[in-house]
Amino acid sequence: MYELTVKTHFAAAHSIQGYDGPCASLHGHTWLVEVVVIGLQLDRMGMLIDFKEIKAHLNSVIEELDHRTLNDLEPFQQGGEESPTAENLARYIFRRLKQQVEVSGRGVKIDLVRVWESPDASAAYREVD
Ligand SMILES: [Zn+2]
Repeated sequence: MYELTVKTHFAAAHSIQGYDGPCASLHGHTWLVEVVVIGLQLDRMGMLIDFKEIKAHLNSVIEELDHRTLNDLEPFQQGGEESPTAENLARYIFRRLKQQVEVSGRGVKIDLVRVWESPDASAAYREVD
């Protein structure tokens, strides 16, 4: 099994409705996003998948989040389960990437998306078979 990780970051604001504390107010983070990709087979050049390709997929998802108020975006407008927490962001990014990457049928899978909202706090999402 091979595993690749790519990282990127973006700036965005959010507020956590119903939270009893300062996170209920609008505030911002520089979010760090890590994507872990796994697979069994390398291509003829010895690559699982080109880092550039994973980064391009990730950037296309992140572009829609960067410098935005996450609560205003359609996927996070419902409140409750769809509140723009690090957990829900990780799941959202995971599902978007899965749609883009796994359709290619190369046996490359998105294993995990981890979202850091500060240097010492992160949430990750992966699908359990
Ligand atoms: Zn926050």
